Amino acid sequence: MLLDMHVHTTAYSDCAQMSPYEMAERAREVGLDGVVITEHNAIWSDEEIAELRRLFPGLAFFRGVEVSAKKHHVLVYGLTDFTGFEAGMPVQEVVALAHERGAVAVWAHPLQYSLAPHPEGLQAGFDACETRSINIDRLERDRYRKLARRLGIPEMANSDAHHTLTLGAYATRFWHPVKDEKEIAEAIRQGAFTPEERFRWSKPASAMREKLWHRRIRGMLAKGIKDPVEIKRRAGASLQRIRRIMEREVGRQYTT
Ligand SMILES: [Zn+2]
Ligand SMILES: [Zn+2]
Repeated sequence: MLLDMHVHTTAYSDCAQMSPYEMAERAREVGLDGVVITEHNAIWSDEEIAELRRLFPGLAFFRGVEVSAKKHHVLVYGLTDFTGFEAGMPVQEVVALAHERGAVAVWAHPLQYSLAPHPEGLQAGFDACETRSINIDRLERDRYRKLARRLGIPEMANSDAHHTLTLGAYATRFWHPVKDEKEIAEAIRQGAFTPEERFRWSKPASAMREKLWHRRIRGMLAKGIKDPVEIKRRAGASLQRIRRIMEREVGRQYTT
């Protein structure tokens, strides 16, 4: 059973550029069995998810949530309501509360804006770690893998799609069918899944993402921001990519 586990829609995520219906149509096109909708700090209601299931009977839809903890984004699976959570909570509290309620917590893009993992994230007790997504620069994927290995937790590949072009670029193949949020949490706890990169969909999606990064980095350089670590903190791309663009821009300065 192939699910994209990290997806945002315009229903609750202001930053998303696809409606739930566009998302569902696209999920079918890219050959997913279903999607776990993980809005920022909001969980779809029973009625909302039932309506989507009714409109798209061939697909499986589940709920998760991406909690904006202090300095970290945490994907929580296994809950159907957001009670007790709020944006800005310390990461340890988010993970502990998830566990208390029978859910699992996955570290979303842990190294996107920093060079080293935050110590409180390392000690939070995550159940799995995102190592691939459209927001994880492929040039620094090894650093993510090392982090997952260091923590001794399984890797997850999620699209983190906000747009139909990125949906299904990465996905999770569960070894056994899951029928609700609780079973998803259980399967993650048992590590009974395989992360997949889906090249046909990830290549064009990455190309779009990279173009965006390049534009943003060049914009910062033009504004006089010259510290690569500071650029990473703001843009989220890898240091390798930032340095490469800086070298190119410097070369251009001399030739023009
Ligand atoms: Zn995030
Ligand atoms: Zn996200």
